[in-house]
Amino acid sequence: MIEIKNVSKWYGDFQVLRNCSTSVEKGEVVVICGPSGSGKSTLIKTVNALEPFQSGSIFVNGVDVGAPSVDLPKLRSHVGMVFQHFELFPHLTICDNLTLAQMKVLKRTRDEAIERGLKLLDRVGLAKHAHKFPMQLSGGQQQRVAIARALAMDPICMLFDEPTSALDPEMINEVLDVMVELAKEGMTMMVVTHEMGFARKVADKVVFMDAGEIVEEAPKEEFFSTPRSERAQAFLAKIL
Ligand code: ADP
Ligand code: MG
Repeated sequence: MIEIKNVSKWYGDFQVLRNCSTSVEKGEVVVICGPSGSGKSTLIKTVNALEPFQSGSIFVNGVDVGAPSVDLPKLRSHVGMVFQHFELFPHLTICDNLTLAQMKVLKRTRDEAIERGLKLLDRVGLAKHAHKFPMQLSGGQQQRVAIARALAMDPICMLFDEPTSALDPEMINEVLDVMVELAKEGMTMMVVTHEMGFARKVADKVVFMDAGEIVEEAPKEEFFSTPRSERAQAFLAKIL
């Protein structure tokens, strides 16, 4: 579903991604971890072309993300993304947040969009909040709306960039629970997170990055029990 091959990226003289290669099979959950500044956000954003890269290739479901001819709105509608900060439109109701892109990009009618949006809102446990504004919801609730909004586009895969790291501790699980459900239903997911409990529960594979490099990747049991690199060992020692 996602094939990243020898991707490198520079900001001026600074190389932020170094020859990164990894892949995500259909239905797989891949967790990306590593120290702050190691390039995790940059890597995940290259997948839906929010960040350009200078060499290598990325294919999403056969679509060449780096090709000049790539249809960006179409690509991004297929690849759902949820960020650390919820990024809901503050001036729109939850319902309008859920329906806007469906109508604009997928050309659904308002009624169709509302039906789909409300169904997903119900699924993340927030059916009663459709007419509120984002500011009236807690951080955890807003993040669940952000997930519902991405799902409303019927994505073929989902990217998450530290979706719980801006949340108060008591709200982390309500968001992780939604993500665990999604994973169990077979959604293809690439997740940057330090929530190793989540990784242990649903990841198929863990990718460890440091200094712009994919230092190692392994099935989760192997990564947690016997990380190969010293850098991964040191990282795990700090966060576990
Ligand atoms: P992570 O998500 O692992 O914390 P990032 O991908 O956000 O790491 O950043 C990787 C590195 O790239 C960091 O050193 C960061 O300072 C640098 N960086 C990120 N964005 C830019 C930018 N727009 N210009 C220059 N350097 C950047
Ligand atoms: Mg980041």
